[in-house]
Amino acid sequence: MNNKIPVTVAYGDGIGPEIMSSVLTILENAGANLDVEVIEIGEKLYLKGNTSGIDKSAWDSLIRTKVFLKAPITTPQGKGYKSLNVTIRKTFGLFANVRPCISYHPFIDTKFPEIDVVIVRENEEDTYAGIEYRQTQEVFQCIKLISRPGSEKIIRYAFEYAVMNHRKKVSCFVKDNIMKMTDGIFHYLFNEISKEYKEIQADSYIVDFGAAQLATSPEQFDVIVAENLYGDIISDIAAQMTGSVGLAGSMNIGEKCAMFEAVHGSAPQIAGKGIANPSGLLLASVMMLVHIKQLDVASNIHNALLKLIEEGMHTPDIFKENISKKQINTKQFTEEIIKRLGSKPEKLKQVDYAVKKTEMKDLNKPEKSNYLVLNYKKQIKELIGVDVFIDWNLGSAEALGDMLKQIKTSSLKLLLISNRGVKVWPQGFTETFCTDHWRCRFVSPGNEVIHHKEITELLNKLTESGFEFIKVENLYTFDGVPGFTLIQGQ
Ligand code: NAD
Repeated sequence: MNNKIPVTVAYGDGIGPEIMSSVLTILENAGANLDVEVIEIGEKLYLKGNTSGIDKSAWDSLIRTKVFLKAPITTPQGKGYKSLNVTIRKTFGLFANVRPCISYHPFIDTKFPEIDVVIVRENEEDTYAGIEYRQTQEVFQCIKLISRPGSEKIIRYAFEYAVMNHRKKVSCFVKDNIMKMTDGIFHYLFNEISKEYKEIQADSYIVDFGAAQLATSPEQFDVIVAENLYGDIISDIAAQMTGSVGLAGSMNIGEKCAMFEAVHGSAPQIAGKGIANPSGLLLASVMMLVHIKQLDVASNIHNALLKLIEEGMHTPDIFKENISKKQINTKQFTEEIIKRLGSKPEKLKQVDYAVKKTEMKDLNKPEKSNYLVLNYKKQIKELIGVDVFIDWNLGSAEALGDMLKQIKTSSLKLLLISNRGVKVWPQGFTETFCTDHWRCRFVSPGNEVIHHKEITELLNKLTESGFEFIKVENLYTFDGVPGFTLIQGQ
């Protein structure tokens, strides 16, 4: 057949080659129209001294095909090796990590027979941007970065995914009662974007309560969208609850490229034994087929897998004496799936990817972004003060305040000091525990606009007086609205 879709494939390490061979055989027998380019990544490259686990020819293939089906790889233990997943994710801007978590009750044992939830996790931002510092003897810092475009992209993607996959609801997990600016903007954008998707229900949860709900009554959730850290945690909780982490596939989606893989690792203990379960990678390949719009083939393979599961033909990892009917190895798995191509499950819910209401936005369009639709009005940004962070351990907050209030410029003077976010000067409580990391807020009285040179002048004066500033954070207003939070106790 013509118009084969080029796809990059990596056989990976450990059980990778066994499960990838199985998956490619099934894809071929199901009539997937693919032009497979094989690349070498992972352990072999790491052990040759390539610390990223991937070389130029592999990058070239990925840039050419933009679609990557990847078997698990082994990351050698020890320092110096970089996570290949993180490298690929960041290089190709794979902003969305999508992990469907489904139970196959009563054919696979789980305490949660009705779980059928898809976690859409933001993949590039949050505390995972990896911006961390040690600033004093006592204090370490990790910066949580949340951007408007990054949030809009992932939230819009979650709604688009819900429409395309006939999902009814998107739930947003945030902690904006505490992180009012970062999680606040994520929640605000969720509310705004949800208005464009009238056919999809939308609701929001504070992440701690949402996670508790997910862990006790998962049936109330459909699609969940979350920032990177929360998404990472809840997707592992949800996958574990299905009772079959080994069956889960996942995809990492960018605007131009996508990577599909099983959730599990390379399982070196069982490598070469011919007993590995290819289901996770097979489901990842189904997601890939949907992505490249080979929908009938995707449905066919997915239904054959569901039929195999409900007929109790199980690989050793999911085999249970009273539930399963026959134990099968990897080779038998491949043959049995191929035999079932064209048949549908009778008890588990059948899938039909070809029945879709709306086209998902075309990921291969050349525009800057298909997911940025909201019009961000440029706001007037004005500098009105500065938080200077100081490393100091020579006394009380009162003593520090007394010294710092002497240091001022023509328009900047000390307003207050906080320690770990709590106001300690003026009128702090002696009970408040203080570290050696002090945030000293200097503002212009009346919030008049100041200039950067005044901050430089202030920093010079602080240094001359023997204070060590470790960080400076400018205080801006945007259209008159403060772009910084009040200090607790302010
Ligand atoms: P793992 O997922 O490889 O194994 C966990 C357990 O599940 C083991 O008992 C294993 O035998 C079993 N298992 C996993 N997949 C299976 C399958 N398809 N069929 C049957 N049994 C299966 O996790 P691990 O042992 O923590 O990690 C092993 C290696 O894999 C490590 O080097 C790790 O860095 C790597 N890893 C890679 C990826 C990836 O490439 N995406 C993901 C996770 C771990």
